[in-house]
Amino acid sequence: MSGKTYIVEHLDPELEQWSAYEYKAIANESAAAGSSFYLTSVPTSLQLPPTLQDVRALQVKHEGVEELYAETKHRVCLLDPAAKKELSPEDAKDFDVFLFGGILGDDPPRDRTSELRKKGFEGRRLGPVQMTTDTAVRTTRIVIQDGIPLEKIAYVDHPEIKVDEHESTTMPFRYVLDKEGQPIFPPGMIDLIKKDSERGIDDLL
Ligand code: SAM
Repeated sequence: MSGKTYIVEHLDPELEQWSAYEYKAIANESAAAGSSFYLTSVPTSLQLPPTLQDVRALQVKHEGVEELYAETKHRVCLLDPAAKKELSPEDAKDFDVFLFGGILGDDPPRDRTSELRKKGFEGRRLGPVQMTTDTAVRTTRIVIQDGIPLEKIAYVDHPEIKVDEHESTTMPFRYVLDKEGQPIFPPGMIDLIKKDSERGIDDLL
């Protein structure tokens, strides 16, 4: 298993707490797999949320991916839900860098990955279902660094999270399952989902 570079290009105006938990999980998992994680195109004016301030494995770059890899663009693979080809373990020899859109998922998806596609990076798909950004990086790492094909990975689509005794909320994404058969969420994320759904209900009252 040789190390790779995973890049999330920041595309939202803000950096929400959801993204902070996702990026912290990506940084720590990448470091554990001997890989690097860059968060690129971060405006100098953007203050990182406290969740990300002490994450040593996170490398924050103000430059964009185009500028950083101007000479070696052909070694960068964009993970793109609209790509014609699926990612496969063989791609490990052709690409050193795997690029993801730093955008929160939306339902239905608005194809904001197109902002990176337009820059001309070679694209690969991770199957037909939208993933969260940390799930997309986790899946890419399993395919590229562990050599496991996409169709051999255990996933769940649109899991339900119980927010209290009476209510549950459906997450409109695909998640990788852990050894116990549970969807993998970044640490802190389930509590945030519960808090956000309480707020949603309070807003209606
Ligand atoms: N709704 C977003 C859009 O409109 O493009 C997708 C956002 S997704 C939460 C964040 C990133 O994860 C995408 O930009 C892409 O890099 C990656 N991603 C998520 N699902 C994917 C899939 N099925 N195939 C390839 N990449 C995927």
